[in-house]
Amino acid sequence: MITFSSTKPLKPPSSFPPFLHSVPPSASFRFPPIPSIRNPPSRLRILSLDAAQTFDYETQFKSQYLKSNALKIAVVGFGNFGQFLSKTILRHGHTVLPHSRSDYSLAAADLGLTFFHDLNDLCEQHPEVVLLSTSILSTEKVLAKFPFQRLRRNTLFVDVLSVKEFPRSLMVKYLPEEFDILCTHPMFGPESGKGSWAGLPFVFDKVRVGNDPYRVSRCNKFLSIFEKEGCRMVEMSCAEHDRYAAGSQFVTHTMGRVLEKFGLQSSPINTKGYETLMNLVKNTAGDSFDLYYGLFMYNKNALEQLQKLDMAFESLKKDLFGHLHHVYRNQLFGASVEKPVLYLEQKLLTNGTIPVEAPSIEICREER
Ligand code: NAP
Repeated sequence: MITFSSTKPLKPPSSFPPFLHSVPPSASFRFPPIPSIRNPPSRLRILSLDAAQTFDYETQFKSQYLKSNALKIAVVGFGNFGQFLSKTILRHGHTVLPHSRSDYSLAAADLGLTFFHDLNDLCEQHPEVVLLSTSILSTEKVLAKFPFQRLRRNTLFVDVLSVKEFPRSLMVKYLPEEFDILCTHPMFGPESGKGSWAGLPFVFDKVRVGNDPYRVSRCNKFLSIFEKEGCRMVEMSCAEHDRYAAGSQFVTHTMGRVLEKFGLQSSPINTKGYETLMNLVKNTAGDSFDLYYGLFMYNKNALEQLQKLDMAFESLKKDLFGHLHHVYRNQLFGASVEKPVLYLEQKLLTNGTIPVEAPSIEICREER
């Protein structure tokens, strides 16, 4: 119910019940006018919106609507990412049934959920959707011993692995034919998606979804969780995803890990660019090594990207040392002396190292 306020005190009309007529004319009571859509009162102000009550018609209607749209979603792999996703899934009114290799009873209880230690028990709850959030490396093991026979004859399997062709072929291989398959990759994690998912890419491929309206709507309801969160929904094939992801995600993770090993330290004069590098380390360091290794092992395009990175780094060093070489030449030997220059050139360009007998870089810079 909305309470309105108008500036003019109003007299109750004669047709109103007697108790309203007992209000003294001088009282500060203001009778709520009925707002007209065609001629809205010029100074109408909303004072308050009532709190939702369980007996309210709107509340009942809303909860019935949510129930009719709610999915029962089993989350298999209740680690870092499984828990992160579950929080949002719950907020959308769906039921979450968590299971994992390790015991996450406490983490589940924190979200008001019952943890299933035994996958058989979970399957007997007949979830409509099974969400696989297991590590890339363990997914085949998990699928190979999955008690599919305890599920409904038609269940939707969704994976969120960071590579896509690999789980796609695993699910096609292990799942009963009548099961639906949706391959997805939310391209953000607990760190990068901490505040909001708005504008963050969500890649999906409806690998196998039956035409039956129930199956279509079940898949769409699942996708709508991410749509409603404002994700940028990108439908593309698993192969296409892996091609793009090797060039972007794998390279990002690699640089984050290289810089972590390098040991970036904060300083009082951090530039914006440097802060970006520090954030990159923060975003990637939180992920398990299994995840990173999975990106490398199970995306056939990753090795090529690693080699390209390596070559790019070498080529950059050659550019730098190539410039340095001219400075050495002039400073040490003059343009006419050929032999020692060739020696230096070879050392710099092949090893990328400065020979000990050469003058320090500082001297060369000053000369320039
Ligand atoms: P992860 O290290 O890739 O996976 C951890 C999960 O795998 C845990 O639930 C763990 O279960 C389970 N697991 C590991 N080894 C297992 C085994 N031998 N048998 C059964 N289960 C096993 O870390 P994550 O960040 O939670 O990622 C989960 C999945 O989401 C991965 O496939 C990842 O590629 C994908 N993903 C992650 C992110 C991210 O930002 N983190 C973003 C998008 C997609 P226990 O903990 O019970 O051992």
